[in-house]
Amino acid sequence: MDCLFCKIAAGQIPSNKVYEDDQFLVFHDIQPAAPTHVLIIPKKHIATMNDVAAEDLAMIGEMHKVAQNAAKKLGISESGYRLINNCGPDSGQAVYHIHYHLLGGAKLGALTG
Ligand code: 5GP
Ligand code: ZN
Repeated sequence: MDCLFCKIAAGQIPSNKVYEDDQFLVFHDIQPAAPTHVLIIPKKHIATMNDVAAEDLAMIGEMHKVAQNAAKKLGISESGYRLINNCGPDSGQAVYHIHYHLLGGAKLGALTG
């Protein structure tokens, strides 16, 4: 499959990993938008939030626990962080493999839209 994040999940493209298990990978964003900026992906290919099926809901729930643990590991748990999913063209989603951005390490700017 021609998907950048599937290739990263499979180790075919290198990444700076923060956490990995059989279902998820957390790695540093190549173009950080904050002092701490990592991406949380499921290893299962799901293109967008719109494509999450009922059978995926338990896994998506666990993804939040992975985010919580990553924030702790990265030392931004108490200072705070932002967890973002971009879905579709208007959001600017660039990689069509579902992911959360975990951003922190400084006071973040207000969300715009
Ligand atoms: P999106 O706009 O789809 O929500 O975010 C995609 C993110 O993936 C961007 O923040 C971008 O910097 C990051 N990204 C794109 N290509 C690569 C890559 O090859 N490696 C890593 N680590 N991050 C990437
Ligand atoms: Zn994929």
